[in-house]
Amino acid sequence: MTRHILVIRLGSLGDVILTSPAVLNLKIAHPGSKLVFLTKERFGEVARMIPGVDEVRTIPERIGSTDLYRLVLDLDRTNFDIVVDLHGNFRSWFVRTLLGSSQSNVYPKRRLERWLIVHRKQFPREDQHTIDLYNALISRNGLPTPSRRPILMIADPNQNHFMRSRENVVVIAPGAAHENKKWPIERFSEVARALHRRFGSKIAWVVTRDDAGIHNLDSLPEGSFVELVDAPIPTVAEVMAGARLSIANDSGLAHLSSAVGTPVIAVFGPTHPALGFAPRGLFDVVAEIDEYCRPCSLHGKTPCFRTERFCMTRLSTNDVLERAVRLFESPVNVERALFVDRDGTIAVERHYVSNPDEIELIPGAAQALRRARDAGFKIVVVSNQSGVARGHFGIDAVERTNARLRSLLRNEGVEPDLMLYCPHHPHGSISGYSFACACRKPAPGMAEQAAIELGIDLRRSYVIGDKIDDVTMASVMGGSAILVRTGYGSDSEARLSGLVQPRGLAVCDNLAGAVDEILKRS
Ligand SMILES: [Zn+2]
Repeated sequence: MTRHILVIRLGSLGDVILTSPAVLNLKIAHPGSKLVFLTKERFGEVARMIPGVDEVRTIPERIGSTDLYRLVLDLDRTNFDIVVDLHGNFRSWFVRTLLGSSQSNVYPKRRLERWLIVHRKQFPREDQHTIDLYNALISRNGLPTPSRRPILMIADPNQNHFMRSRENVVVIAPGAAHENKKWPIERFSEVARALHRRFGSKIAWVVTRDDAGIHNLDSLPEGSFVELVDAPIPTVAEVMAGARLSIANDSGLAHLSSAVGTPVIAVFGPTHPALGFAPRGLFDVVAEIDEYCRPCSLHGKTPCFRTERFCMTRLSTNDVLERAVRLFESPVNVERALFVDRDGTIAVERHYVSNPDEIELIPGAAQALRRARDAGFKIVVVSNQSGVARGHFGIDAVERTNARLRSLLRNEGVEPDLMLYCPHHPHGSISGYSFACACRKPAPGMAEQAAIELGIDLRRSYVIGDKIDDVTMASVMGGSAILVRTGYGSDSEARLSGLVQPRGLAVCDNLAGAVDEILKRS
C-alpha cells in the first residue's frame, strides 16, 4: 500500500529551500511513497524543484480560517500516514491537528537557544544548523539522513545555456527581506565592476521589484550586464546554476544559489550563522565582521539602535571582493567525473572482498574507464567497505585490495584519479567505525571530498554502480546515475520504480555500456 506523507513549510523562500534535505531523506527512507508539500502560493515553484516532492499544494498569501478549514478537509481525503510540520506556527498546527495522522512530527524551534544567542550573546558550543534540526526530526524515527545540503533539481545541465557555454557570469542579488540585512547597494556595484575589470565577468543583477533600478553599472560594456527584475524563481535558478558564483545578502536567493550548486558569498550583518540559517553548499562563504551587538535579531528585522549599521558599513568592498577572487582562483565546478563503484561494477562481485587475489576485472571495464578518461572525465572509485566496521577485515586489507585494483587498471592503461572508500557502518561492531557517517553511500561524502580535491562539478557528473545506494547518491549530490546489471544490478533494477530518480537515470548491461551511454550524451 502506498504511504502518504505530508510536509508543511509555508514560507519563506530560504526556509523552503532548507527543508529540501529533510524532504529527500524522507522520500529515500520511504521508497514508493507519495510526498505532498504544502506551502504558500508564491513558493510553489521552488517546492516543485525539491527532489522527492510528488505534489505541491498551496495556500494563498492571506487565508481566512474558513478557507483553511476547507483546505484541510480536502487534504484529509488523502489519509496521510505521516505529517511532518517543519513550520511550527499556528496555521501549520491547525492543519496538522485537524489531519490527525498516526504519525506527526513537529520541528523544534529551539526558541530558548536562539533567544540566548540574540539577547545574551551566549553562543552554543556547536552551531545547530536548521537543516540538522529538520533532519533530527527524521532520524528520531531511526531513519538515516544522507542528505545534509540543500538541493534543487535543475534541468539537464547540457540544456542550460549558461552551464553549457561555461560563461563567466557572476550573479549579484542585493535584496533581502528586511532593510537592515542589506549591504549598501553601491558596494555590490563596486564589487561587480571590479570582477568585470579583473576577470571579464558578465554580471546578472537579480532583484525584486522594490530593489530595481537603484544600481549603477552603466560603465560596463554592452552585453556584459543583464538585469532580472522579479523573474520567476526557476528562471533565476537556471541563471544561477550557470554562474561562477553569486554574491547576496543573508536572503532566500543566497540559499537558491547554494541549492543549485553555485557557490555563494553571503553577507551577514545583523544576523549570524550561529542562528542556523547560513548557506551550506560545499564552497559557500559567509562575509561578516565582528561587532559586539551581533546578532541583534533572529531574522534581521529589529531596527539598528546605533548611529550607523556598523555590522554592514565596516564590511568593506574589498572584504567581499577578496573572497570572490579566492573563489575565482580556486578550482570549483570545473571538472566532470565518473564516480564508479568497485565491487560488482569494476570488479567481479564477491561477498566482502578482502584478499587482493580475489579482485578480478569485469571484462571491458578497464577499457571503458580509459574511454571516459580520454573524453575528459575524472575517474573516482567510490566504495562502501562496511566489512571494516563489522569486523570482517581491517583497513589494511581494503588498502591492499584497492592497490591491486589500481595496478590491474594501470596495466590496462588507465588509473583512477582517486580511490575512496567508507569503512563505516551505523550498526557495526568495531568501535571508531560504527556510527552514521557522512561518507557511506548514499551519503555524498566521498563525492564531496573528490569535488574539493579535484574541482569536480557534481551536477555534471555521474555515479555508476550496481546498487540502489549508488543511484540514490546521485540524487543526493545533484548529479546523474547509471545502474549497471552486473553484480547486484538486476535485483536493484527491479526496485528502481519507487525511488527518487536522479536526472538522466538509465540502466545498462555493464560499465562499458554505461560509458557508451554517457559519451553519447555529452
Ligand atoms: Zn563513512
